Amino acid sequence: MAKSKKGSVELIALQCTECNRRNYTTKKNRRNTQAKLELMKYCRFDRKHTLHKEAKVK
Ligand SMILES: [Zn+2]
Repeated sequence: MAKSKKGSVELIALQCTECNRRNYTTKKNRRNTQAKLELMKYCRFDRKHTLHKEAKVK
């Protein structure tokens, strides 16, 4: 099994658009995915599904 090569895969956060908390982290391959990620995810602070957008991980 080949180990994952580093390069264009970067770690990103998914930030809730309602409370602006970063609830999730995920990885994204910049070469394959140029558009900003936008996902409906459950926010436990809002206690409902909200739109989460890509944000930088600090
Ligand atoms: Zn939220």
